[in-house]
Amino acid sequence: MPINKSEKPESCDNVKVVVRCRPLNEREKSMCYKQAVSVDEMRGTITVHKTDSSNEPPKTFTFDTVFGPESKQLDVYNLTARPIIDSVLEGYNGTIFAYGQTGTGKTFTMEGVRAVPELRGIIPNSFAHIFGHIAKAEGDTRFLVRVSYLEIYNEEVRDLLGKDQTQRLEVKERPDVGVYIKDLSAYVVNNADDMDRIMTLGHKNRSVGATNMNEHSSRSHAIFTITIECSEKGVDGNMHVRMGKLHLVDLAGSERQAKTGATGQRLKEATKINLSLSTLGNVISALVDGKSTHVPYRNSKLTRLLQDSLGGNSKTMMCANIGPADYNYDETISTLRYANRAKNIKNKARINEDPKDALLRQFQKEIEELKKKLEEGEEISGSDISGSEEEDDEEGEVGEDGEKRKKRRDQAGKKKVSPDKMVEMQAKIDEERKALETKLDMEEEERNKARAELEKREKDLLKAQQEHQSLLEKLSALEKKVIVGGVDLLAKAEEQEKLLEESNMELEERRKRAEQLRRELEEKEQERLDIEEKYTSLQEEAQGKTKKLKKVWTMLMAAKSEMADLQQEHQREIEGLLENIRQLSRELRLQMLIIDNFIPQDYQLLTVKFT
Ligand code: ADP
Ligand code: MG
Repeated sequence: MPINKSEKPESCDNVKVVVRCRPLNEREKSMCYKQAVSVDEMRGTITVHKTDSSNEPPKTFTFDTVFGPESKQLDVYNLTARPIIDSVLEGYNGTIFAYGQTGTGKTFTMEGVRAVPELRGIIPNSFAHIFGHIAKAEGDTRFLVRVSYLEIYNEEVRDLLGKDQTQRLEVKERPDVGVYIKDLSAYVVNNADDMDRIMTLGHKNRSVGATNMNEHSSRSHAIFTITIECSEKGVDGNMHVRMGKLHLVDLAGSERQAKTGATGQRLKEATKINLSLSTLGNVISALVDGKSTHVPYRNSKLTRLLQDSLGGNSKTMMCANIGPADYNYDETISTLRYANRAKNIKNKARINEDPKDALLRQFQKEIEELKKKLEEGEEISGSDISGSEEEDDEEGEVGEDGEKRKKRRDQAGKKKVSPDKMVEMQAKIDEERKALETKLDMEEEERNKARAELEKREKDLLKAQQEHQSLLEKLSALEKKVIVGGVDLLAKAEEQEKLLEESNMELEERRKRAEQLRRELEEKEQERLDIEEKYTSLQEEAQGKTKKLKKVWTMLMAAKSEMADLQQEHQREIEGLLENIRQLSRELRLQMLIIDNFIPQDYQLLTVKFT
């Protein structure tokens, strides 16, 4: 749909938060762990209860959508990711996060089992969705799709598609394009299979250098970014490019990194991992409390990179993953609280029209220029490009001085030759060579001179032909990058796209049925309440009031326990931070001791002066 530049739609949306609870796994079943979480998909609530004898009331949280242990990957995609990817295809930015404790299903949700169609996660399903959309677009729409894949480990950014995996990249900022990563590779992709291959490459690189892959992935954040540019004629008759950027983020495990016993490298790591996740928490808090004037985006790489996703120009969805078993009670509550706070973040997304860092327009311009250049043909240096004898005759024209002749020759040398003409010229050279060799009345010296002349002409011609060929190759490489709307690019992803669509339609039906049921349920509840309200006698009224009192009492108790929980969590956070400070100060003292004992006083003073 063409967009009028003057009326840029801006949508003010809250961050969507969904919760997904995985099933009990075999180990948990065999060890007889109890289920502490119940999910009400219809009401969108998650209730967590203590399974011990502590009589604590259960805690209930409400979200945009919740998924129980039986949830299907395709439903998760259609209900949560589909609207975001649709927006990205329109030119909005989008972000999908998976948050939660290690082992709760973040990677399962984001990536899933790529080899099994029904078990594919959000990232591979988005590939099929994106190329399905392009295949259905109008023929005059052009698309450029590129992907990047990076990892943040230990506050260092690694390009998972880069050639040199030992390299660490810098986060930079420019007023016109915002925060970006210097030298991050971006691969242009033409179909869903390309994307899949790139993902596999990134995976391979992710495990490079990691001694324990499980531990590594639970301590690092992975961001897969898909940038989609689309060019169309606007209402003003000019071409406009819209650019949507989609970040798909698999965060590090939200559990607190072990604080005790870690020293040196391990402590630094734990501190940094805590840092990026606690900064994420602080950013969320600052955004939702309404009083903070400062949002600490710059305190960690993760929040800096995702600045737009939180409180900025993006449509954002967070999937909080939890485990169902009672031994995860504390972490589950902590994740749900985190998610509950994130619901209140307000984002302002707008369509990115003709952004400074768009590549599509630049590519299309280059294609036009190359085509023009190819049509015009190549320049061939040398005086007698046409190799004709007439020209030799002309050169001998009476009255023409050397200077004039040279000028004319240079002009002739700049003449462009079309590919057809080049073939003609080669034929001519061959013919002349044959004639030369069969010519009998010729001095050897003269013959050699003529041969050399022919050779030079041939060399120049070859150079021009090579130049032409390389331009042709450049053009074809560029043209391959730009995808024309409406062309079937799905390849193997076609099935996946169909699967997604079908399941989306089925979902729509189910949603309608569920809505109907919900309405009925609400009506029944209302009826029940109405009946309860109609007291016929004082006794009944007293009974009712007692019941109400009981309810209020339970609510009070729940609030009290909630407060205690919050205090406890706060305390836990403070203790963690204090422990980190203590360890770091200990390390600092050690470093100072080393400096004092091993670096001469004078030199120390000198260094202080210079720094
Ligand atoms: P995380 O990335 O959060 O550490 P994983 O995605 O690796 O967790 O999940 C841990 C294990 O649980 C994996 O074996 C995964 O297949 C399984 N799992 C997670 N979520 C689900 C689910 N919704 N249904 C079935 N299995 C799941
Ligand atoms: Mg994982």
